[in-house]
Amino acid sequence: MTRVAVVTGGTRGIGAAICVALGAAGFRVAANYAGNDDNARIFGAETGIPVFKWDVSNYHACSEGVRQVEAELGPVEVLVNNAGITRDAMFHKMTPEQWNEVIATNLTGLFNMTHQVWAGMRDRSFGRIINISSINGQKGQMGQVNYSAAKAGDLGFTKALAQEGAAKNITVNAVCPGYIATEMVKAVPEQVLKERIIPQIPVGRLGSPEEIARCVVFLASEDAGFITGSTITANGGQYVA
Ligand code: NDP
Repeated sequence: MTRVAVVTGGTRGIGAAICVALGAAGFRVAANYAGNDDNARIFGAETGIPVFKWDVSNYHACSEGVRQVEAELGPVEVLVNNAGITRDAMFHKMTPEQWNEVIATNLTGLFNMTHQVWAGMRDRSFGRIINISSINGQKGQMGQVNYSAAKAGDLGFTKALAQEGAAKNITVNAVCPGYIATEMVKAVPEQVLKERIIPQIPVGRLGSPEEIARCVVFLASEDAGFITGSTITANGGQYVA
């Protein structure tokens, strides 16, 4: 059976690796993105994965986006809530805009997207929701009060919704990556990475997007049907939750 999977923020970084891995595992994949059209076009051309532009922080845009995906590919059975942003600042300098943008994309985005597919999953008695949270939602990170709050919220969302979905064969799980080599992390100065971040990672390196993608493929698979409300922590031993 070919299941349809939607990956938000699926055209770059971890999301792109998730799309490719789900495609290789036999899913029909749709990749969402927010605004980087050139990148999305190249990703779509290179992989053959259809790309769809909408903003996960906008409920109505999500509704319309999922409608388009379902019209082209069929009912969504796997949703990977991966889109995420950072707007870092120490709390005493954090603006309401920095707070609101991060909460809107990284936390409210999960509500906006999951709400579009939940009724269909309940009707069909099958679903997989996989939320990409973060090590910084587990342990907190200075300079990221907004991001840590949103990512911790993603874990609460996961645990509560898992209890609602279980009787309908819908699993809801989270993956908490540590530092993964994507543009989000490459924005950190090389010296800070080498001298301050990598020494905190017991395996001695950044993770790869593919290592996170493999966790997602497992959670999306039939084999993972008894796993719900869980968090896979993939951080090279940096934080043992
Ligand atoms: P990237 O910055 O490399 O890519 C982010 C993706 O999300 C892009 O496709 C972007 O689209 C999309 N996106 C951003 N905002 C929106 C929005 N409002 N609506 C729709 N799509 C949006 O991120 P990463 O791959 O590094 O991170 C992916 C996820 O993993 C995030 O949730 C992040 O918080 C989490 N994470 C990452 C870690 C890391 O070390 N990299 C560590 C822990 C967690 P566009 O290209 O159009 O801008």
